[in-house]
Amino acid sequence: MAHTEGRWTEAQPIVSLKDVRKSYGTVQVLNGISLDIMKGEVVCIIGPSGSGKSTLIRCINALADIQGGSIQVEGQEVHDAKLDKLALRKKIGMVFQQYNLFPHKTALQNVMMAPVKVLKENRVEVEKRARELIRKVRLEGKENSYPGELSGGQQQRVAIARSLAMRPDIMLFDEVTAALDPETVKEVLVTIKDLAAEGMTCILVTHEMGFAREVADHIYFTDKGVIVEHGPPETFFTNASDPRTRQFLSQVL
Ligand code: ADP
Ligand code: MG
Repeated sequence: MAHTEGRWTEAQPIVSLKDVRKSYGTVQVLNGISLDIMKGEVVCIIGPSGSGKSTLIRCINALADIQGGSIQVEGQEVHDAKLDKLALRKKIGMVFQQYNLFPHKTALQNVMMAPVKVLKENRVEVEKRARELIRKVRLEGKENSYPGELSGGQQQRVAIARSLAMRPDIMLFDEVTAALDPETVKEVLVTIKDLAAEGMTCILVTHEMGFAREVADHIYFTDKGVIVEHGPPETFFTNASDPRTRQFLSQVL
């Protein structure tokens, strides 16, 4: 069924991909990906390295273009040349493996920067919100710390707060714990779990299977640019039918 543009309501998917195709030169990276995500859902994307997970995430907020199919966010065509990309990226927060905080700014200043500089919002209001967000990611007391004074997990939580400061409707997480020491992974996962529990729509690429099982409403397994298998965690982890999924799970579980 073709996508139709119209007024989006919450009864419709907040993110909808239909037969998305993406290539880099002659290399086909996404080979017809279709999926729908409802508001408030938590979706985990898992799969081997190179299977197109990061590319998929980047196509959703138009950091990468697509060669076929369509992607809609809140009913709007993301890859329509007329779409206001800044407005789209305000709606979609993104957190990567590399947190890239500004090293010479404090945690609080890092969180405040985009709303003040990009959205030109009132500094006093932004500061109030930034302090609340720092509490929310459980970093109260670290407002004035510089990134270099924080652990990897703490820096990643500042990065999450920084993203939330733009008041997104959807959060994308691309292997946000992959570069962290094992002891700080958990605190970042707890932060994401808090967000999910509050009803934030989350799309996560992750290798944390226990976490995926616990928080995801739906799991997608990708291999070579296609969704090989998907389902709710209960069935996905116990009843995977595709041999590639089974093999992957046998290696990571
Ligand atoms: P994953 O996140 O699942 O590891 P990626 O989406 O990063 O996979 O990559 C999928 C494929 O696309 C890989 O073969 C990768 O080499 C290729 N690729 C990713 N980004 C680019 C790029 N900017 N230019 C060319 N090829 C790319
Ligand atoms: Mg990746």
